[in-house]
Order: sequence, then structure tokens, then C-alpha cells
Amino acid sequence: MGPKRAELLARLGVETVGALALHLPRAWEDRSETPPGRGVPADAPLVLRGRVMDSLQRRAGPHLILTVARVNVPGHGEVEAVWFKRPSRRYDVFTGLKKDLAPGTDLWLVGRGEPGLLKVRRIDVDEHFRVDDPRAALHVGGLVPRYAATEGLSERFLREAVGQALEEVLPSLGEDLPPALLARRELLARPQALRAVHRPRSRAELEQGRRRLAYEELLLLGLAWSLKHAQVRQIAKGFGYEVKRSLLTPFKAGLGFELTRAQKRVINELFEDMRLPSPMTRLLQGDVGSGKTVVALAALLLAVENGRQGAFLAPTEILADQHYWTFRRFLAGLPVRFELLTSGVPKAKRERVLRQLEAGELDLVVGTHALLEGDVRFKNLALAVIDEQHRFGVRQRTTLRQKGAALDLLLMTATPIPRTLALALYGDLDVSTLDEMPPGRAPVRTEHAPEERALEAVRRAAAAGRQAYVVYPIINESARLDLKAAVAEYERLKAGAFAGLRTALVHGRMPGAKKVGAMEDFAAGKTDVLVATPVVEVGVDVANATVMVIQNADRFGLAGLHQLRGRIGRGEHAGSCYLVSEPRTDTARRRLQVLCETNDGFRIGEEDLKLRGPGEALGTAQHGELGFEAADLSRDSDLLDAARSDAEALIREDPDLNLPENAGLRARLVATYRDKWKSIDLA
Ligand code: ADP
Ligand code: MG
Repeated sequence: MGPKRAELLARLGVETVGALALHLPRAWEDRSETPPGRGVPADAPLVLRGRVMDSLQRRAGPHLILTVARVNVPGHGEVEAVWFKRPSRRYDVFTGLKKDLAPGTDLWLVGRGEPGLLKVRRIDVDEHFRVDDPRAALHVGGLVPRYAATEGLSERFLREAVGQALEEVLPSLGEDLPPALLARRELLARPQALRAVHRPRSRAELEQGRRRLAYEELLLLGLAWSLKHAQVRQIAKGFGYEVKRSLLTPFKAGLGFELTRAQKRVINELFEDMRLPSPMTRLLQGDVGSGKTVVALAALLLAVENGRQGAFLAPTEILADQHYWTFRRFLAGLPVRFELLTSGVPKAKRERVLRQLEAGELDLVVGTHALLEGDVRFKNLALAVIDEQHRFGVRQRTTLRQKGAALDLLLMTATPIPRTLALALYGDLDVSTLDEMPPGRAPVRTEHAPEERALEAVRRAAAAGRQAYVVYPIINESARLDLKAAVAEYERLKAGAFAGLRTALVHGRMPGAKKVGAMEDFAAGKTDVLVATPVVEVGVDVANATVMVIQNADRFGLAGLHQLRGRIGRGEHAGSCYLVSEPRTDTARRRLQVLCETNDGFRIGEEDLKLRGPGEALGTAQHGELGFEAADLSRDSDLLDAARSDAEALIREDPDLNLPENAGLRARLVATYRDKWKSIDLA
């Protein structure tokens, strides 16, 4: 091929004939010949084969050339084929098309027609092929691959180039996976699989090919995780924890409630892990309200008992401030020195806190991103807790980790991550799960309601001495329009529906102190209703709040809605959540319906994955960085399981993949993860 096209292909990351064969389709289209008498297919293009009778061409405007041919299509009769083309410098439409339209020429036509009619009368042609062209078989007559095309490279060209590459490469293409694995998992050999995805003869064959390639991707990922895990286990912390109970016992006694069984179990898991010679990297999953903070505090106290420091990182100032007050409550009377560090902390105090941290005069610090700054240094930081960890990126975790030598890391999340995704994304983490709610919690009742009904519920709650949130969506806190709307709504409600109630406003662009002040007043019961933007989405804990009204609920994602709803029903009083919204799309309606049906965060996570796909459901770049081409995490959980257990077994038997039968795998692993190592590297 010419240098121009080669350069365009290089932009798609394709530089060799072999790479072309590995450039997978992004979709497939059923281009089977359309049978007569059934009209235009609903979910596939119209595909006709016929003989040109005559044609005419004319300029239909400065940028449009119209070509119409009468084509005799066996079984269908006479069909009018229409091409709309822009004139271009490279391609003379008049002569280019004309030479295929000589009367008597047999053509394949692929295009669109008018739905509804049983008889096809006209086709708007997207692509056409001469039946006598041997390459036509690549483009029509069955399932046809769709490739991501770029400017200057048509799909037609790509299909032909890939087709040719396959002929050249497949015969000599070896197998990278150990044959024993393939046999056990009943997977196609690599050349067969590639042929199946590029030139499938049926949906079933296509799926077989895709699964083989997906398994390969997932196996490589599993191997990477297993190796990483083994590496971390080699690092030594250089000190040991002893469970002294000098702080833990009075802490438990002073809580005012019994820990749940799940909390006790998870605390034990954490302690066991922390006492191992190598650093802990553990994900604590627990649905909203399951009591993760207390568990984290127990782990932090173990560090303090052993003369070490701990840090607790939260994504928002409101949440950090709230955690600080939780510390004050639960650590009252204990000899533990702790402080709050956020960007809102005055300069003089900040400098004092920094000095004390470095001198070891503080045991614990709670804070926001402000903790990550370069001048924050610790004397002997041993445990870092990251709350709502999905709000932080890999880089921020790394920064925090570097503030101590081989420190233990506890990541907490309430964002329900389906198991499949957790395995793929956090494969080298150990996972603990709080699968039990503190006793006496009634599940939150959720309904899709008109606004008036929701506001009435707020008034009723206030009359009974309870409190309520009314939340407006601001997807992007800097979106001025959204903010203006929320402020205006606050004024409207305050003067109208909530007249006589103590109503306050909190949003992300308020100065830190005002924001925190409004939240503290609400927590202290000084206000009845908090009108808020999603700054209250995560973590906020006010047990007396029982009503949550979510305005324009369709503008939130499922995970966001579940988090918001998690702000209520956190105490002895049952909570009600009102979704006020007129959803415009089916998925939006479905989201609200799911929320009304269940309180189970993990089920919600699974639904989210189905509705939005893994990339968006996570809302992070992390997923993209995994770079799967064939694997689809929303439906390949069985493959992921198989691949992971196979990877673990392989590494157990051959820790460095040095056996000859693993040489192919080893080479692929290096090629795949050499550059991507960072994206799966949490250390
Ligand atoms: P989350 O897991 O969402 O972070 P929190 O740690 O904020 O949940 O806990 C929610 C509420 O439940 C807090 O008010 C906390 O004090 C309380 N809580 C935690 N554990 C228990 C328990 N075992 N019994 C009763 N209340 C508890
Ligand atoms: Mg929390």
C-alpha cells in the first residue's frame, strides 16, 4: 500500500501487516441479502443484488451530485437506486460511479430503504460492489465487520486491507497460550479466532472467536495482577504491629453501640493483614451506611497504639470536617492527638499542624487533597485510609503512599462496584466487605413522585422534628447556570413551600467556612431543611435526617442517586426518598425504576454496568486504560473468573513464566503491560 495510507494506518496504531490482522472490528453488521416480500429489515441494512438497467446523473447543488439507477433485482422487481455524493478532489463522481453503472452490470447494493412497505421500491446506497469483483465477498453476503475508520481511510479499504493481511499472516501465526489451557477452556486457536472475528460465517462462530480473544486479554490482565501481588508480598514493612488494646478497648467501650458482626470480622481481617510483614493494600467495600468509618478508626488506632501515625483522606471539605467531628466524638477521653487539615484551614494553624505532623506530635490527621501537598510530611506514617476512594485517581494514591515507607493502605468505597469490575480494576487488592447494616435500620422507601408530594413530605418530617435534604443536580460544580438555578430554587422554596421552616443552602462554590458552617448547623439540628447541590452526595451522616428529595433525578447516574439516598435512613427513624423528575429517555426511566425497587448497592451497581457499560459506570479513566478490545466486562464475568483462576495457577506453578510452554504468554505479557504497567499499578 502507498505511504499515505500507511501513515493513516499508523495513526490507528497499525504499523505492520501482523498488526492489521490484530486490529479488531468494533462491531459487526448483518449484510445478508434481503429476501423479497418482507420489506426493509429493522436492524440491518438493505442488501440487494441486481442488474443495472439504466442510470442518470446530475448536479443537484453546489455540493451534491445525484445519481439514480434503475436496477432489476430478482424477486424484488425494479428498484430505484440512489446515490448522493459530494464532489471531491480525489474522486470524480461522474466518471467514477458511471463506470459501474453500464447497463447489464451486476451489482451488490448496500443501503437504506423506506421501512414499513413490504415491497422495496428504492434504496439509498451507502456502498456498492460489482458482483464480478472478487473482493465483494468481504463486504456483503453475511456478517460483515465494521472497523473504526479515520479521516481518509474508509471502512471499505480497511476491510480489504485486513482481509489481505489475514491471508498473509494467519498461516504463520503461532499460538501464545499454552495448549492445555485452550483445551480445558474449549477455546479456539488464535488463527481460527482471528478469522472468526474478521470473517465470521455466523453469530455463533463470531462469539466463539471473540471469547477466545477476550479470554486472552483477561488472562494477561490476571497474570499481571498475580505478578504484581507477588511483588508486593516481597516488600518488607520493617516493623510489626502488636494488638495492645490500650486504645482499642476503651474506644469500643465508648462507641455507645455494639459493632456489627461484619464490622468485627472486617476489623480482624484488617488487623491480620496489617500484622503481615508486607504492606497491606485492601479495599473495604460496604454499602452506604454500613459503618465503614468506625472500622477505619479501629485500624488507625492500632497504628497509634504502636506509636505510629495515621492519615484519613476524604474527597470533600464537608466530609473531612464531618469525619473530624466523628473522631472528636469517638475518641473523646482517649490519649490520641489529631487535627483537621483542609484548604480551608487558616495559614497559621496549617503551619502548626505541618510542624506537629513532622515532629510526631500528632497521631492522626483527617483531611482533603490538602494532605497530598508536598510540604505535608510525617514522622512515621504507617496507615493511610482513603474514604470514597473512587473519587481519587491512581496518582493521588501514589502521592499519599509516598508519604510513608511501605505503608498500609486502606481504600474505602460505597460505590457499588460489581464484582467483575472490582476484579478487573483492583485485581491486586485484597477485598473486605461489610455485608451487614447496623441493627434497627429500616430500609429507605423510594418513590418517583410529583414535586408537591415530595415537598409535603418535607413539611411533615419537619413538623415531627426530623430533617430533610432537597438536592439539585449540578453535574459540574462550575456550571454557573445550574448553580444559579439551584440558588433561585432555594429562594423560591424558602419563601413558598418551606415558609416557616428553618431552611439553609449549601453548594460547592460557597467559601469553605460557610459551607462547613451550614453543614454543621444542619448536623446540630439548627436547620430543618438543607437545600443542596451534590456536595452532600458522599459520606455525610446526619441520623435525624429522614427525607431526601432529589430534583431532576434523571440527571444523576444510578450510583450518584444511590449515594444521595444513602444520606437518609442512617438512624432509628425510617427514611423516604422522593425522586422528582420527568425522565425523557427509557434508560433514565429505568434508572429511577431500579432505585425504587431496591436498596441493594451491589444490585444497583450491576444494573449501572448493564445500562451504561463499564467505562461510564465507573466514570474513571482507569477502565479505558485497561485497553480491552475483545473483552466486555459487562458480559464476560465467567471468562474473567476462569482467566483469573488460570492466571493464579500458572504463576503458582511457574512464578516467572520461564517454562518453555509459557514463553509465548510471557512475551505477550511484556508487550502488553510494559507501557501500561502504571495503570494497573496501585503502589
Ligand atoms: P458509611 O459506611 O456509609 O461510611 P458510616 O461510617 O458513616 O457509614 O456510619 C453510618 C452511621 O452508622 C454513623 O452514624 C455511625 O456512627 C453509625 N454506626 C456505625 N456502626 C454502627 C453500629 N454497629 N451500630 C449502630 N450504629 C452504627
Ligand atoms: Mg462513609
